[in-house]
Amino acid sequence: MFLLLRQLQRLRRQIALPPEERRGSLALRHVDTGSCNACEHELAATAGPHYDLQRHGLNIVASPRHADVLLVTGPVTRRMAGPLRTAFDAMPEPRLVAALGDCALGCGVLGSRAELAGPLEEILPVALRIPGCPPSPQAIADALLELLALHHGWTR
Ligand code: SF4
Repeated sequence: MFLLLRQLQRLRRQIALPPEERRGSLALRHVDTGSCNACEHELAATAGPHYDLQRHGLNIVASPRHADVLLVTGPVTRRMAGPLRTAFDAMPEPRLVAALGDCALGCGVLGSRAELAGPLEEILPVALRIPGCPPSPQAIADALLELLALHHGWTR
């Protein structure tokens, strides 16, 4: 157990995260608008012990009412366009939208045009783009930490 904790500490040092004195937080509400679930697996990996984003103030929350950032995965299907707008409307100001993965960025990998409501950018204002199919946990962690840094006005 002790060896495992030592190894975990070493891994955390290797992934060059911001110094402890840089405090701040962002609450993230994740909405899957029709993905293949690979983006969700990579997002889940960023919350695991290797990246441990919660330690840096990035928390995935259960309600949009508590969220600063709406994190969207997948293309926006017609069925999910309404719930997506409802989630956005429930968020307090100031609020941001982040597109996670090429589908959310409108690449059209999944589904036909008839099934889609349109690119996320035409439905909501996208502030953060995380490309990839799926993006790696490192890319997701980097983008979210960059957003946290911008939000709190400090540089990594
Ligand atoms: S971007 Fe790729 S991995 Fe993510 S939902 Fe679309 S097809 Fe799946």
